[in-house]
Amino acid sequence: MSGALTVVGLGPGDPRYLTSDADDALRGAEAVYGYKAYLDRVPIHSMQDHYPSDNREEGARAAAAIEHAVRGANVAVVSGGDPGVFAMAAAVCEAIDRGPDAWRKLDVAFVPGITAMLAVSAKIGAPLGHDFCALSLSDNLKPWALIERRLDAAASAGFVIALYNPVSRARPWQFGEAMARLRRHLPPSTPVVFGRAVGRAEETVSVVTLEDAESSPADMATLVIVGSRETRVIARSGRPPLVYTPRAAAEVSA
Ligand code: SAH
Repeated sequence: MSGALTVVGLGPGDPRYLTSDADDALRGAEAVYGYKAYLDRVPIHSMQDHYPSDNREEGARAAAAIEHAVRGANVAVVSGGDPGVFAMAAAVCEAIDRGPDAWRKLDVAFVPGITAMLAVSAKIGAPLGHDFCALSLSDNLKPWALIERRLDAAASAGFVIALYNPVSRARPWQFGEAMARLRRHLPPSTPVVFGRAVGRAEETVSVVTLEDAESSPADMATLVIVGSRETRVIARSGRPPLVYTPRAAAEVSA
């Protein structure tokens, strides 16, 4: 019997953001692996086993799921948002790249999901309407000096920047440092969007200026979008503001 592994994106949280392809993959799986908080969102279908693990154990989780599929089962691994964005798809590829030859024969598929930056952007207008990039602020898997270099490069080249993993209990100071770094390149009035737990009951979305951007509203469930020099805020009476980046840009002036 030959097994298969499907790496499935769950979207940001709201079940309406789960694609039908992802739903089909989850229903068809005999075993589902994932970080416990994400796995809790997946209903247990009949004859299905769930294998929750800790957030930090991505490599071990990928290897366990691959082993299980190689033994003949139809296995799913889940990620929040899109599995290709700072998540399990790369962990699975790394494991296959380093693993035994038999793992390369496995039937592997990837099912996309709505990633956090797109969910946040849709709540506020079109902050990603022109060129943008995404960075993880976590220095668990890369040195902080590299993050600083990338922040400098992105801001000075005029990209809007989506920041994943802005703050955690183990990384209390990085977000403030990142904002200070960006203030070197961007005007104090640059819009900064905080989207927290988007697509869940406790969702909040707020807009501040780069000058006032503090780590306080951010946590591990927050995605931050830092505008470029072109990004604009449209104030509206009785309605939340719209934040957008026009489709056309002038010369880089940073
Ligand atoms: N694969 C995920 C990202 C994993 S990294 C995706 O594509 O969205 C985890 C980070 O994603 C969090 O620290 C946060 O920055 C962001 N994030 C995930 N879900 C979110 C949500 N519902 N609202 C806001 N940000 C979210």
